[in-house]
Parts: sequence; C-alpha cells; structure tokens
Amino acid sequence: MPHLDAYNRPISYLRVSVTDRCNLRCIYCMPPQGVPKRSHAEILRYEEIETVVRAAAELGINKVRLTGGEPLVRPGIVDLVRMLARVEGIDDLAMTTNAILLNDYAKKLAQAGLQRVNISLDTLRPERFERITRCGRLEDALAGMEAARQASLTPIKINTVVMRGMNDDEVIDFAQRTLEPGWHVRFIEIMPIGNGMAVESNWRERVVTAREIQEQIEVALGPLEPAKVLPGGGPARYYRLPGAKGTLGFITPISEHFCYRCNRLRLTADGHLRPCLLSDYEIDLCTPLRNGADEEQIKMLILQSIASKPLQHHLDESQSPKGRVMSEIGG
Ligand code: SAM
Repeated sequence: MPHLDAYNRPISYLRVSVTDRCNLRCIYCMPPQGVPKRSHAEILRYEEIETVVRAAAELGINKVRLTGGEPLVRPGIVDLVRMLARVEGIDDLAMTTNAILLNDYAKKLAQAGLQRVNISLDTLRPERFERITRCGRLEDALAGMEAARQASLTPIKINTVVMRGMNDDEVIDFAQRTLEPGWHVRFIEIMPIGNGMAVESNWRERVVTAREIQEQIEVALGPLEPAKVLPGGGPARYYRLPGAKGTLGFITPISEHFCYRCNRLRLTADGHLRPCLLSDYEIDLCTPLRNGADEEQIKMLILQSIASKPLQHHLDESQSPKGRVMSEIGG
C-alpha cells in the first residue's frame, strides 16, 4: 500500500531524471548553449538508482517514469530499464522522451521491460520544430513515435506545451490527430521553470489556458465528451471528440493546480529527492548512498521526503523555483 503524506495523499509514483543532458534545446526549457553539464561522477549510477527504486517500491511506490534531460542520450539506458523492470512492486515502468532517438531504441526498450512512452511534441511543422527545439528534426521524432507504436510501447501520450504566439495556431491540427490516426494528445500550460523563454518576466503572456484551448477546439470541431482516464493518467483531465479513437487531455499547472491529487516524488539526476517540482526543497540521497547507506536508510529518507511534501505549489504568487532547471529535476 502506498504511504500517505501529511495531507492524506497516497504517494505511489517516482519520476527519475537519469541525466541532465539533452539532444535538443527547447526554447522554453534551455538556453541555446545548454546548461553547464554535471560530471559523470555527480550523476547517480544505475545501481544507485536501482537501490532508490527498490526502497521506494517497498514503501508502496508502484509506478516509475524515466525522464531527464533526454533519457535516451544516457549510455546504457536499456540496461537501466532491464534492472528496474525486475524490481518487485514496480508494475508501471514508463519513459518521457523527445523521441529523436526512439527509432533506434524502441524495440530494445520494450524487450527490456519498458511498458510505454510519453512523447514531447510541440509542433507538427518541420521548420517550426527546428525553431522550437533549436536543432531537432520533426521527421526523427515522428519516426521515433512510429517505432514506439510498432514496439507496443502504448498507449503513447503526446505532450504538447502550448505557447501563445508560438504554436497555439496548431491546437486544431493536434486535436484532429485524435480522430485519425487516433493519437492521445495532452496540452500542457507553460510553467515558469527551466532556463529558457519560460522564465522571462512576461511568461504569463505565453500561457494559453486549457479553457482557451478547449474553446478553440469546440468551435472548430464540436463539443468534447469526457473520456476515461488513460493508464498512468496522471494530472490530466481527459476528453474525446465524438467517435475519436484517441483522447485529448489538459494539464493545467497554472490555471487550475492539481496538487490536491499529486502522488509523486522526483529523483534528480544527481540523486536528490524532491517532493514538489515547483519547490526547491529536496533531500540528498547521493551522499548517503556513496557513504554506504543500505536500503533501510534510504527508505527512512524517502519517508522524510513524503512527510515534507507541501500542500500545493505557489506559482500563483509568481515564484518560480530558483535552484535547478527542468532537465536536472526531470520534467
Ligand atoms: N527530454 C524528454 C522530453 O522531451 O520529453 C524529457 C524531459 S522534458 C524536460 C519533459 C517535459 O517537460 C517535456 O514534455 C517538456 O515539454 C516539459 N517542459 C519543459 N519545460 C517546461 C516548461 N517550462 N513548462 C511546461 N512544460 C515544460
């Protein structure tokens, strides 16, 4: 059974940032030159991640997502998946990726025990993809998505950060993909976190709320129906267009926070446990692990992190976390 935090929320989900490195430089996430890289010694080794996941599983965490940075740029990632797929108690093992390298990896990841992927995709236009990611090619991401489908890393969820004046004119194109070929698309409000455009002082002007997006879709394509939550549904509210195979989800960290049902902890690439994405408080697991802490001691630290989970984030007070960028924490 998952442990309850101080506000009676069951904590069942651990997101693990396996690297702070990324092969893209999305404008809302990173500056063009990237962020200063941590040395390999500073990043948790796979055995250390496994120890944390084992300890977490004993405390009732049953869902793990690998993220980053870009998880597929870390050498040996398939080995990590294989290690974590064997941990007793973890029955949902997923990854969030930009899919650029997924064409090479999808089959091996599925064979190693990965169950599904979420793919970040903010535009369907090749030149715009290059502009938003600063270096990526849309065709690579789409090939990665197709490879994931063929490897049954499903349901694949497409995560789309909607930014005013940047890609909000593509909402309908994405919504149409839920009709044919049946994508599951989740629109995400941009958050003032990262090291790119999203931390500009006028970031609020970039936010397109879920309500606005829904209105846009309903005017163009007709009313949405509530849909069942997808496996690993997370914080999204789900709808579908009548007759659509795919779903539309809305993730609203800005217009309507969902902290009251937050069930997650985050492990940073350098081994710190963070009870809230949007608060800088964290507990160092790396030092104890390297000083020989065993699983029981790590369990105590995880319990401490669960107990310190805040009731809600405070972005509405225009505070953005100062200490780290998204790629280190794990988006
Ligand atoms: N590289 C992987 C990927 O692209 O999916 C995983 C890491 S990335 C940081 C995880 C997710 O965080 C992506 O879907 C990205 O769009 C989202 N993200 C990053 N910065 C964000 C921001 N400022 N606001 C909202 N979402 C953000």
